Amino acid sequence: MGLIVQKFGGSSVADADRVRNVARIITETYRRGHRVVVVLSAQGDTTDDLIAKAAEINPHASKREMDMLLSTGEQISCALCAMAIEAMGYPVVSLTGRQAGIQTNSSYGDARISRIQTERIQNELDKRSIVIVTGFQGVNRTGDITTLGRGGSDTSAVALAASLHADLCQIYTDVDGVYTADPRLVPKARKLEEITYDEMLELATLGAQVLHNRSVEMAKRYNVNLEVLSSFSGNPGTKVKEVVKTMEKSYISGVAKDKDIARLALVGLEDEPGIAFRIFSLLAKEKVNVDIILQSIGRENKKDISFTVAKGDLENATRVLTENRDYIGFDHIDINDNIAKVSIVGAGMIHNPGVAAGMFEALFNAGINIHMISTSEIKVSVLVDLADADHAVRVTHDRFFGGNDLY
Ligand code: ADP
Ligand code: ASP
Ligand code: MG
Repeated sequence: MGLIVQKFGGSSVADADRVRNVARIITETYRRGHRVVVVLSAQGDTTDDLIAKAAEINPHASKREMDMLLSTGEQISCALCAMAIEAMGYPVVSLTGRQAGIQTNSSYGDARISRIQTERIQNELDKRSIVIVTGFQGVNRTGDITTLGRGGSDTSAVALAASLHADLCQIYTDVDGVYTADPRLVPKARKLEEITYDEMLELATLGAQVLHNRSVEMAKRYNVNLEVLSSFSGNPGTKVKEVVKTMEKSYISGVAKDKDIARLALVGLEDEPGIAFRIFSLLAKEKVNVDIILQSIGRENKKDISFTVAKGDLENATRVLTENRDYIGFDHIDINDNIAKVSIVGAGMIHNPGVAAGMFEALFNAGINIHMISTSEIKVSVLVDLADADHAVRVTHDRFFGGNDLY
């Protein structure tokens, strides 16, 4: 018996039957004697629908008003789920982010949780109530509603698990766990029994949306026992932990794809010290995160620097660079947003030099051109044309997981 945080994603609560199904999972856990805190996402595509509604009224709505609107989706699913549990005869209370004491900074649309005042939740748990909390939202110091960024309910769940010292945090979704690639894209992908925080963090950051990357970061920091599983199948899921069994583990944990990126190239820069500093400090001031950076070899005192940013930052990055063209000193900016990043992740690649070459060979055999490459100790990422991205994921996955070969 202990405290369990259970989070259910949008597809798990999409309609009345699914809400009732979730209510059964929750009450079953409660009946076994556990204290249960539940975090819910908005039903189905509610958040997308709300964004579309806002765009009809004002395509340039302020982030504050967007958060006011988007937070309502989670409130609906929580109230409905509480009603389903009431109907089953169990004590339950649903709480908004504010009622649950989730405090954040003021970055509307991408807020960070600063702390959680857990008294209210504790009181409800002491009364033996099942507590249902809206995911994805909190409240800032001025009392305004904030949201944590798309997919942020995972982070709400892990933050609550950490603050309440929960014994387990279960992330229920629409697939059986974390796979070696998105199982919707690669039907042959295998479910991982377990994965390390570090590898999961890389996969999530590189595009595997099964977990919000900040939730994994937080789980690692607070050593939260994390499990990803399906609300539909009842099958065992994937455990995310510090250390995993290494026997028979492939060098690679998975393949991920990120279509949400764009590449900028500053062409005709002077080949002299300080240029990279000027470019990237300007972008940092604008809070633009830069990912892969490539600098060409200087020729006749000129060079080019290319880098990638999230698509949402493209407009801002282009504007600040164009405004500072004289200060930086370049000929022109070349932009390509028809690209995607495909990555392999695995702690095992540190000691196995052939891994990157294996990926490049698979892409070469498939006739896929690589535009940029970036590596770290546990990942290799390549930039390819958007049209090639899905194929690139499949052939890369096949190369590492296709046969009996463990890499
Ligand atoms: P939820 O609404 O439950 O939060 P998400 O849509 O955010 O669910 O995440 C689950 C989806 O993540 C799956 O339906 C799957 O298509 C996708 N996905 C991408 N990469 C992976 C992976 N490596 N393993 C499992 N699922 C993945
Ligand atoms: N409802 C929010 C979204 O769609 C948060 C979440 O589902 O985690 O992004
Ligand atoms: Mg999600």
